[in-house]
Amino acid sequence: MFEGSLEKLKNGLKQLPGIGEKTAERLAFYLISGDKQSALNLADLITDSINSIKRCENCNMLSEESPCPICKNETRLKNVLCVVERTQDIYLIEKTSEYKGRYFVLGNLISPIDGIGPNQISFPKLEKLLIKENITELILALNPSSNGETTMSFITSKLKRKNLKITRLATGLPIGGDIEYTTSKTLASAIRNRNEV
Ligand SMILES: [Zn+2]
Repeated sequence: MFEGSLEKLKNGLKQLPGIGEKTAERLAFYLISGDKQSALNLADLITDSINSIKRCENCNMLSEESPCPICKNETRLKNVLCVVERTQDIYLIEKTSEYKGRYFVLGNLISPIDGIGPNQISFPKLEKLLIKENITELILALNPSSNGETTMSFITSKLKRKNLKITRLATGLPIGGDIEYTTSKTLASAIRNRNEV
């Protein structure tokens, strides 16, 4: 019964994370049968945010400005850098108010099975930034999944040197769990009690 543009809309919605066939159908019908103006406004919001967001030239964070507001903020610690997988992780850490340094977004985790190696995780850019900004502590805030562990081991083995302290979030994060599903309080204590590796 789905055809033409409705079929395309449903298939487009299905590409979103967590949206299966049934939900995509429900959302597609909701959008075409509800208030036309509010659905069109939503379409504009999607277009506007996609067009206005870029990657910060320093830290890779998705932001409307480059350098992003965090890199430009002179009150933040310049010598501490927190490495995360995605921009969303920065929002989660910022919510804890526990961290006052800067960030670096890898974009990916190393995943041999998906053909993602060290060059696909912005590692060379991270290496340059460490030298340029005189970083003295690098916090690895990656999910403790198998790809997260592989990536943290790789970064540690490549960057281990005397004048750089490398730490990772304390346990308390569930093994194989996701930073996204951790409460702000647990995440704050994982940052506070981070361990040197
Ligand atoms: Zn930035």
